[in-house]
Amino acid sequence: MALIVQKYGGTSVGSTERIEHVADKVMDSRAKGNDVVVVVSAMSGETNRLLALAEDISDHPTPRELDVLLSTGEQVTIALLSMALEKRGCAARSYTGSQVHIRTDSTHNKARIREIEDKRIHADLAAGRVVVVAGFQGVDDNGNITTLGRGGSDTTAVALAAALKADECQIYTDVDGVYTTDPRLVPEARRLDRITYEEMQEMASLGSKVLQIRSVSFASRYNVPLRVLSSFEEGEGTLITCEDKEMEQALISGIASNRDEAKLTILGVPDTPGVAYQLLGPIADANIEVDMIIQNVAPDGATTDFTFTVHRNDYSRALEILSRTADELGAREVSGDDKIVKLSLVGVGMRSHAGIASTMFAALAKEGVNIRMISTSEIKISVVVDEKYLELGVRILHEAFDLAQPEKI
Ligand code: ADP
Ligand code: ASP
Ligand code: MG
Repeated sequence: MALIVQKYGGTSVGSTERIEHVADKVMDSRAKGNDVVVVVSAMSGETNRLLALAEDISDHPTPRELDVLLSTGEQVTIALLSMALEKRGCAARSYTGSQVHIRTDSTHNKARIREIEDKRIHADLAAGRVVVVAGFQGVDDNGNITTLGRGGSDTTAVALAAALKADECQIYTDVDGVYTTDPRLVPEARRLDRITYEEMQEMASLGSKVLQIRSVSFASRYNVPLRVLSSFEEGEGTLITCEDKEMEQALISGIASNRDEAKLTILGVPDTPGVAYQLLGPIADANIEVDMIIQNVAPDGATTDFTFTVHRNDYSRALEILSRTADELGAREVSGDDKIVKLSLVGVGMRSHAGIASTMFAALAKEGVNIRMISTSEIKISVVVDEKYLELGVRILHEAFDLAQPEKI
């Protein structure tokens, strides 16, 4: 008998009919002899609806109260799914995050899971019940409700699978696996049978929202076999796993794109030791994460120019802070652009192959897509381009690396 954690996303539980369908799928897994723990998201659109309500009341809702509000979405679906299971004669119990002691830190709206108490869940499973847990939420040491950031139900599922030492964590969603790129952007995208934790982590962090990044980090750290599958069609989905020798070594596994980007530039800053710290220190103090950074020293060697990117939500705050610093340092000019996007190629095969970057740059140049920034790491290359080139850019790169075709070994 295996222990399986199944997670169903918003679209999969988007109506009562779909919740009934999920109940049937859970029953199927039970009929195969598995113990099943289910994690559900809120019904699709519900978290956004709740956020909009909060914004009607306040431009800056208190993070603690926002978590109390947002966590209600998942409470609806755990109860409905448990009712659907009970109706089918299957004993089930629903639990909120705090009821199963999903302990997190106190960072409201993007809390991190610290530990999960597994006793209660194991007792229910031993009594023959299906356990249905609310995704995306936890509780801090003071009993406050916390949430884990958008897409956080994935992380709840993987963390539960790790804590319970489950045999597999299955993420059921509205696509039948992880594709070479978002199949909604490129219909020719190809489903991958397997992808490594490392590549999936890069894809997720670079904008592929099919899995929340923390869920992949958890899976990798605790070696949880993770599979992405469709709620609506049968199939093997995509297995996310350790790199092994038999795995086909694709040069490029996928292309990620991210719209949540903005860039800021400061020109003519006196080039003295500590200038990077003086510019970026206040940004970091405001809890704004900086991604790419470029520094150019002017030909006279006396001044320097800086460009860096931040999350689009932080753009106006970052611009304000940078303008203040510019006044203090006597910089010539500050400018910004929040109509940029990041396109990234990801693949462990890049480690052993040269020439990928030049193929990428040539393909974009041929279609007149101007590259504004570049950054690379061992298994990824990212470029920043104007927002209007997002779809075109992803399609050009998908084509240039022939990703619609299965890898030739
Ligand atoms: P859920 O509500 O089930 O958590 P999400 O919307 O969070 O579902 O994630 C599934 C979506 O991820 C798909 O509908 C797809 O548009 C998007 N996506 C982005 N990149 C990829 C990719 N490389 N492969 C598959 N889906 C992707
Ligand atoms: N309901 C939350 C969201 O929409 C969590 C999740 O779906 O994973 O982000
Ligand atoms: Mg999701």
